Amino acid sequence: MTAKQSTPRVSAEWQKRAACRGMGLELFFGPGRDREGPHTAVQREAAVIAFCKTECPVLTECLVYALKTGSKGIWGGKTESERQSYRKTKAGKALLAEAS
Ligand code: SF4
Repeated sequence: MTAKQSTPRVSAEWQKRAACRGMGLELFFGPGRDREGPHTAVQREAAVIAFCKTECPVLTECLVYALKTGSKGIWGGKTESERQSYRKTKAGKALLAEAS
């Protein structure tokens, strides 16, 4: 795996402090539910989300970035579907307004 493949989030200053720098992409994006199975996907996602929430100093910056860009995979301690729901909440709208 090249450095670019293992660290896709390197353009912004906050990304340089990401706890996931250098970690494999499959942890955050998965190989696809057909390849890993739904039970394994749920376990992987839960482990990654726990890692984000407990280890990452730029959790909020990452979440804002993903909310703004509509990125796939796990960002900011949330899955894509969790972010879609969060975006509609009062907290999500306030976070995006604050970050504008
Ligand atoms: S919140 Fe998670 S996905 Fe985002 S930078 Fe931190 S470790 Fe990486």
